[in-house]
Amino acid sequence: MSFLNGIAASSGIAIAKAYRLVEPDLSFEKKNIKDSTEEIARFQSALSASKSELEVIRDNALKKLGADKAAIFDAHLLVLSDPELIHPIEDKIKNEQVSAEYALKETADMFVMMFEQMENEYMKERAADIRDVTKRVLSHLLGVQIVNPSLIAEEVIIIAEDLTPSDTAQLNRQFVKGFATDIGGRTSHSAIMARSLEIPAVVGTKESTKVIQNGDLLIVDGLKGLVHINPTPEAVVEYEKELRNHEIQKTEWAKLIHEKSFTADQSFVELAANIGTPNDLEGVINNGGEGIGLYRTEFLYMGRSQLPTEEEQFESYKSVLEGMSGKPVVVRTLDIGGDKKLPYLNLPEELNPFLGFRAIRLCLEQQDMFRTQLRALLRASSYGNLKIMFPMIATLEEFREGKSILEEEKQKLVSEGEKVSDHIEVGIMVEIPSTAVLADQFAKEVDFFSIGTNDLIQYTMAADRMNERVSYLYQPYNPSILRLIKMVIDAAHQEGKWAGMCGEMAGDEMAIPLLLGLGLDEFSMSATSILKARSQIRNLNKKEMEKLAADALKMKTADEVLRAVKKI
Ligand code: PEP
Ligand code: MG
Repeated sequence: MSFLNGIAASSGIAIAKAYRLVEPDLSFEKKNIKDSTEEIARFQSALSASKSELEVIRDNALKKLGADKAAIFDAHLLVLSDPELIHPIEDKIKNEQVSAEYALKETADMFVMMFEQMENEYMKERAADIRDVTKRVLSHLLGVQIVNPSLIAEEVIIIAEDLTPSDTAQLNRQFVKGFATDIGGRTSHSAIMARSLEIPAVVGTKESTKVIQNGDLLIVDGLKGLVHINPTPEAVVEYEKELRNHEIQKTEWAKLIHEKSFTADQSFVELAANIGTPNDLEGVINNGGEGIGLYRTEFLYMGRSQLPTEEEQFESYKSVLEGMSGKPVVVRTLDIGGDKKLPYLNLPEELNPFLGFRAIRLCLEQQDMFRTQLRALLRASSYGNLKIMFPMIATLEEFREGKSILEEEKQKLVSEGEKVSDHIEVGIMVEIPSTAVLADQFAKEVDFFSIGTNDLIQYTMAADRMNERVSYLYQPYNPSILRLIKMVIDAAHQEGKWAGMCGEMAGDEMAIPLLLGLGLDEFSMSATSILKARSQIRNLNKKEMEKLAADALKMKTADEVLRAVKKI
């Protein structure tokens, strides 16, 4: 048995076979050929191999995943039989004496470009079909295998170099028991989503795609950050026992679902959930969430080819507000950028996307997009307890500008006769050190703060949250971070405002005692962490935690702080 060390990204244990989700290398050199008849025959045989493969996939999809998924492959089969695509490829091979790979790619690219430029949505989708089919035929010509995660129909552990947030969103919880990636950190969005989907995950293993083969038996230990490859039967038995204990523990925590979150000395804090889509609401309710502390609306904008309309957004926001039945719902306006991309905005590539043109910076410039979102939010506001939050605020001017645009849209809606709540709090994420340092000034103008430690730590330590090589600098317990957090909480309280935290630190059992002691009012985390946190908080004494926090603020290193927390 061997194992890989990585970063524990989502706790829990998974035992299943490996499924490599690795993009195949479909590159080739342009080659001239001598015998075009032979080359056309080679092309024809790649076509028929692709057809037989697609027929099997289509039939499997129909049986296991339903007609919807199967229809995609029917469309692909149609493309493969379309003479308008096939004949020009054969003509090119014959007339230009070029290889089948080259003729296929050139011709297909031309069609893709043509379809993509059309206004009609249906035609745009044909471009995606041609691209997929070309990949499949190319893979047969080149003798390499391609994979399709949406078709996984047995229990597996995904092995990938990295997973994008939209890859992660599409993982089928029924079959994907865990994942391990080569790159990424604890706060990369795929890790955050794994936690909310309750999929055990280890990221940043550096070489899982190199050493793990399809079908290897794996144990993903999302608590210790280990991936065991072909473990001994004894190790499997041991882990199965741990898995059962975890289930028993969860049943204990579940008893707290309707309880409030009080400390042992009766101090109250709010435990809220972070969500990405209205579908996550069920998890919030089932885990006793007392509110939504962060609704990452960017997921509404992802995995599609154009911006969501005002109406679509209105329906989503309304359903979350209604679903929470009057409990607070903090909706963050669009925070695109960093590892969350929107290809259809056609923004130029940047050298440092995490420091670039993103979130509120983009929204203040592309105001149509921003105003549409604000209108949808304002219209939804009368269906619940809405709070609006701007992401990545670095200066007071940014906040003021965002807020005045919100006011303008509100006035317009009111004059159009729309019902808009009069009690919408407007706050900011504190993710940038400049804002934490100037929190006393911000606190005079905002209604609340929510500390985004995923970014606040990355910007304070100058350590990219996606880069596993600098992940040791993700140090939530570093006294420098604790001091910034204290500044923000104190500044809020000074002005009679509340301070929450929606970064991953809020759900970290080693950080919770410190945050309680620093006076945090609201903790927002993956819904699946709420009950565990509530059980922990009920056993902590606020007065004692204040002492712990005061000591920690004077310490020198994160390790020293961690040792102090472990002693309580
Ligand atoms: C954060 O930065 O802590 C945060 C909650 O926002 P995101 O993880 O979406 O960047
Ligand atoms: Mg952030």
